Order: sequence, then C-alpha cells, then structure tokens
Amino acid sequence: MERDLYSIRMRAEHDGSHCSGAERIAAAGDLPALAAELVARALGTGSGAPDRVHCSVDRLAGEILYRRLPDVQTFDVPDWMTGRACASALLLRAGVAPVAVAVAMAQLAAGPAPGGRVMRGAMIVDALTGTRLEADPARGVRASRMDLVMDARQGVSAELAAAGLGHHRVAEALVLAGKILGAPGIVAELCWSDAPDYLSGYVADPHHGYQRITRMKAAGDGFGGRALFVRTSGWTLEAFVAYLERQAVLFDSLGTIAPPQPWKA
Ligand code: AMP
Repeated sequence: MERDLYSIRMRAEHDGSHCSGAERIAAAGDLPALAAELVARALGTGSGAPDRVHCSVDRLAGEILYRRLPDVQTFDVPDWMTGRACASALLLRAGVAPVAVAVAMAQLAAGPAPGGRVMRGAMIVDALTGTRLEADPARGVRASRMDLVMDARQGVSAELAAAGLGHHRVAEALVLAGKILGAPGIVAELCWSDAPDYLSGYVADPHHGYQRITRMKAAGDGFGGRALFVRTSGWTLEAFVAYLERQAVLFDSLGTIAPPQPWKA
C-alpha cells in the first residue's frame, strides 16, 4: 500500500505583502527536515526579514496523479522586446487568439491586479476573447499540491543542471507548468516572474511543452505574473479551479531537453 503523503506549504509576509512561498509533497518522515528547509528559505529571501512565516501540512486524501514533466525548449533572445514577440508568436501557434494574447501581455506588464498591482496567483483568460474569468482579480487562481516524487528529485535536478537549467526556479516552474498543462480546458500558459532580478519567462502548451524564453522584461522591472488561457467549451471553471487547487500531481520523470536555439520570427 502507498504510504500516506502530505502537502507541506510555506508562505512568508513582509510589510503585509507576500515575499516568499514554496510547497512540496512528502511522506511523514520527511516533513520535519522539509519544514526546516522551507523556513530557512523564507528567512533567506533577500527581500527583508519576513514578519510572519506560515507553514501548513495537510494529509493528501483522494487519488494522486503521476505524470511526466513537460519537454523543455529554450529560445535565446537578445532583449525583452524580442522575448515578448517570441512569446506572442508561441501563444498564437498554441491557438490563443491575437486579442487574448494582447490583453494578457498588456495586463502582465502593467500589473494585472486592481490598482496595477501584482497578483498572488494566475489570471484565467478566455483564449478566444481575452476576457478574464477568475473570480478574484487580486488573488487569481493558485495551483497547489504538485511536486517531484522524492526519488526523482536528485536525477531531475542533475539533468536540468547539466543542461544549464540548474536554477531552482526552473525546476519549480516546470512542475507548476506540468500541473497547469493537465488542467481541463487549458490551451496555453504565459509566465514571467515579478522578481526584479529574474528576467526569463516561458510559454507552455500541451503540444510543445515548456518553452523557456531567456528575456521577458528589463532588469529592475517588478511586474510579472501568469496567464492561463482556456478554451471556450468542454470544461467548467469549477472543475478547472478544483483541479489546480486540490488535485495532487506528482512528477516522476523529465521530458526531453532540447539545446537552446536563437529565436527567429
Ligand atoms: P514566480 O514565478 O514565483 O516569480 O511567480 C510569478 C507570478 O506567477 C506571481 O506573481 C503570481 O502571479 C503567479 N504565481 C506564482 N505562484 C503561482 C501558483 N502556485 N499558481 C498560480 N500562479 C502563481
């Protein structure tokens, strides 16, 4: 029988705003060390000492899905303007309508939450019209309960590092994108970080996997976020959100990693 597994989540706040977060899935015996690791991470974010660190542990109930991570491809671009042009082209190829691409790009660049702020989660965007569908435009939808299986972690990290993708953000984004690509109704995902010093981003879609773009914004730019593009029929918002928030998904292997290539329009 499979051992009980737990979701362990950390989030930290500084001056009333979110400053760090991470989550893992693990067996009971691994939780104390993981809790220490996550708290150490919260304390070492570099964005000021957190005022509060929350750590929560929930036993997973229900089925756990085991999946393979998406294939990885990297497009090298000389600057962020070319990066955004590359992202737009990849989204159009995935089946997102031009108006929806334009709306999402403009909103991520300007701060998609009310008042031009960064969101805590992702926008849900109608891939045909660009209409935003998430219930709360400040929070958005947050994907949760996904991780690498413990035994695959070292191998996946080593393979990513050998391909020059050893930054912990890449592995985490790959797991998140892998979960998102399994959602009912998903057409594509667009992401660039709001961290002012992390400039790369990606477009993911179910046919082409995780397509990393080396520059999506200028250094020092504190805007970013995620847009999840969904088709207009054959799914419900409730099922989409329930899958992202509650369904546990563990990844047991990496897809293919293609060598980086320059983007050619
Ligand atoms: P990050 O890649 O951690 O810098 O996050 C970039 C943006 O993606 C954040 O500002 C959020 O808008 C969004 N985001 C981060 N984590 C999640 C998540 N678990 N689910 C959905 N959106 C997220």
